[in-house]
Amino acid sequence: MAIPAQNPAPADAAARRAVEPVTVYTLDKLPPYDQNFYETVRRNMTLVDTLIVPTRDAKAFEVPAGHLFRIVNTEGPQVGDLNLWNTNDLTERFYSGKTRALHATHVSTGDRLWSNFPRFRPMATVTYDTLDWYGFDEYGAGVHDVIGTRCDPYTQHMLSGQDYNYCCHSTLTRALAAAKGLSLDEAETHVHDVVNVFMCTGYTRDTNEYFMKASPARPGDFIELFAEIDLLAGLSTCPGGDCGAGHSSDTAPCWPITVEIYRPQEESLAGWQPAPSNGYGGGNAVG
Ligand SMILES: [Zn+2]
Repeated sequence: MAIPAQNPAPADAAARRAVEPVTVYTLDKLPPYDQNFYETVRRNMTLVDTLIVPTRDAKAFEVPAGHLFRIVNTEGPQVGDLNLWNTNDLTERFYSGKTRALHATHVSTGDRLWSNFPRFRPMATVTYDTLDWYGFDEYGAGVHDVIGTRCDPYTQHMLSGQDYNYCCHSTLTRALAAAKGLSLDEAETHVHDVVNVFMCTGYTRDTNEYFMKASPARPGDFIELFAEIDLLAGLSTCPGGDCGAGHSSDTAPCWPITVEIYRPQEESLAGWQPAPSNGYGGGNAVG
């Protein structure tokens, strides 16, 4: 709140605040994470492609359904912003808000990255995370958040009056435009709220403001995802580097990020199918 509360607490304020919370979505209703399946798949896989996202840049890459990809910090702690699209239909894309609501503010092994309505299905599953030990620290911060958006030139301009063209929003826009032969204006409409890979964030305890702190990632750390549908991914290297101080500038030390794409052995995928679209058939109509 920008100003102090204008209303006094009512007599029963303590009782109202003491009501116990309930989890909005119960995890046991979600499609189960079949740990045996994913462990088998990831044990027998072959590296088929490697690409490097240079500093203050982004790249788009395809990951066929049933393949895996790793996002690796090879040289230093570097935050990456991840966008996901259905390769065959860019209107299906990662849905940060619902992923957060279904899982948590930060994602790790066993969590799904969901797509928007109407298909609303798992686009990818996190199958390994070397930073899963981090959990939530004394500030309430965790790693790999789905509570941020992506650094962007509009907010930057509003807050500083400066035009900066290497924000994750802009590099993701340029990467998507190059991958799909779109104009920058066309591509920009498809860029969406991200998974902040390796980013360490939370909400302040007293005012619930979004904060960031230096990423705990070190060279060799990676997050690995299984593509549940044919994916086009966009990954930026945030100009904030480890995002320990700021972003949207050329002052932070930055590092490239490596992406590795893996193909599992065919037999380990026996019986597996790409994720089906959501079963709701009502079309939002009544009657
Ligand atoms: Zn950024």
